[in-house]
Amino acid sequence: MLNLVLFGPPGAGKGTQSENLIKKYQLIHVSTGDIFRAHVSNETELGLMVSKLMAEGELVPDAITISMLEEEVDKNPDAKGFVFDGFPRTVPQARELDLFLERKGSKVDGVIALDVDQTELTKRIAERHKTSGRPDDDAHKLQKRISEYFEKTIHVLPYYEEQGKLTKVNGMNPIETVYTDLCAVIDSF
Ligand code: ADP
Repeated sequence: MLNLVLFGPPGAGKGTQSENLIKKYQLIHVSTGDIFRAHVSNETELGLMVSKLMAEGELVPDAITISMLEEEVDKNPDAKGFVFDGFPRTVPQARELDLFLERKGSKVDGVIALDVDQTELTKRIAERHKTSGRPDDDAHKLQKRISEYFEKTIHVLPYYEEQGKLTKVNGMNPIETVYTDLCAVIDSF
């Protein structure tokens, strides 16, 4: 199994790069944001529970997120591996992911953090907001997402760094360059 965590702030390009990577390495893309959004649009019980938090740019509680993630992974018992996009976003999520994969005799093979500066992130999301229809892409909500990132999510980096699993890739480069850089890192796992 090849399990990759793609890490980075909102607008860093995780979704775009995940789509390319899963084709090349035949992995399953697990984007917790996409899964939550599907629940919201299908008005499932979970969707109704999380829609307000998401629209405000706040994180969904760990217990809900972790059980949803595990369910999603378990739907794919024959997978060659996974690209986790938007997960883990807190240290407890990172710990649970390690335990969960360990129970399956597997592990996180590597974590790649896409580095993009704040000015560029704000610009990209303002552009995306024109077509995304995502309430949380609104400028005010985006500030909340960025502050959630710097308060809670950033601490996931030292967690993986201590395990020697973290590599940073410059996410300011053109999409193709970032993709090439990501592949070089993955090929070195
Ligand atoms: P972004 O484009 O900002 O990276 P996502 O599409 O990954 O955002 O996630 C959108 C929203 O979904 C988050 O702001 C949060 O409310 C919720 N969410 C997604 N993943 C998680 C997670 N791992 N833990 C808690 N909440 C999450």
